[in-house]
Amino acid sequence: MTHLTRRNLLRTAGAVSAGALLAPSMLGAPLFVPERKTQRVVLIAMAGGVRTRETFGMPDNVPNLVAMAKEGVLYPKLRTSNLGHFGATMSIFTGLAEARGIRENARGPDPTIFEYLRKDLGLDKGDVWVTTSGGAQQVNYSYGLHPEYGPQYGANILDGDGIFNREFEELLERWGKPKAADPEEQKILERLRRGMGKGDAVKDAEQQARVEEYILNELTRGTSDIRGAAAGDRKALRLARNLMSIFKPKMLGVVLQNADIAHSSYNGYVEVVRQNDAAIGELMAAIREDEELATTTAVFVCPEFGRDADLNARRGLDHGDGSDDLRTVGCAAWGPDFKQGATVTADHKTIDLTTTICELMGAKAKLAKGGRLSGLYS
Ligand SMILES: [Zn+2]
Repeated sequence: MTHLTRRNLLRTAGAVSAGALLAPSMLGAPLFVPERKTQRVVLIAMAGGVRTRETFGMPDNVPNLVAMAKEGVLYPKLRTSNLGHFGATMSIFTGLAEARGIRENARGPDPTIFEYLRKDLGLDKGDVWVTTSGGAQQVNYSYGLHPEYGPQYGANILDGDGIFNREFEELLERWGKPKAADPEEQKILERLRRGMGKGDAVKDAEQQARVEEYILNELTRGTSDIRGAAAGDRKALRLARNLMSIFKPKMLGVVLQNADIAHSSYNGYVEVVRQNDAAIGELMAAIREDEELATTTAVFVCPEFGRDADLNARRGLDHGDGSDDLRTVGCAAWGPDFKQGATVTADHKTIDLTTTICELMGAKAKLAKGGRLSGLYS
């Protein structure tokens, strides 16, 4: 009886090699050595529409974000882009607030922060990741279609829903005796690859094998037991936590979205905010507990926009009233080069994140229109 093992999975993928089991940082990719202590960045788009009122305005909801801000810099009023969830979240990653050809469920025309960093710093694909809460639309965050950038500089993408759903785990559990070229196994592997960005984002066999190894580790840790209104977001954050521990990537984006339950339920929304804060706390704990990560990792958490000032008829919160609650968000920045316990109320925007992070890492966001976050460095 052959049980499902990492090696079986890799063999079935046709990608067994010594390199397949090495972490990307061991593969000799050219690594940029910045003057600053920061060598890696986690950028969490706390998207789905989250007001500062329910985060830094109600510290009991978000003890982990508050702790981050106390040890870092809080920007309580960043101005947001008015482009709908998808466009506004995309703008955080492109540093561009104009809706230049951004359609729902399509890649944008502009380069993303992932492409800037990979191209300018010569980063290996294994060093740049994005994990998302789920849904076909979210694969579009990994790269844009700009001719000077694009898929060859894109991020690896892991989609919480596509990979960790219950049905998928059951398929793997039944798959106790792998045989090469078994149609069912092929189907499973195809689904794995779809979860990683429709196959086009992961062409390199070694990279693919590492992803599959990682996924298998995750499945055996029971990640797919995560349930509830914030399940997609918590999976994305769990993926992020494990990616940090296993691969220590240079750039990791995380895209959340479950807070949008607020349209129909204020209480459900607050619960998502609280659960996401707890999951961010787990990610932060993993970073703090790892000596290398703790001294080299910067973390930014920022919603794409807020929500209306007043409850709607369903006792929920929409997003369209143009209020300050909608148009400004609270952003926390934490890292070895940053001030501790500072609050910066200067005029800034969510699109400043891409410019700021690229500069922090030694890259240039050439087409971004954001400025630099002031008051950040110690
Ligand atoms: Zn919405």
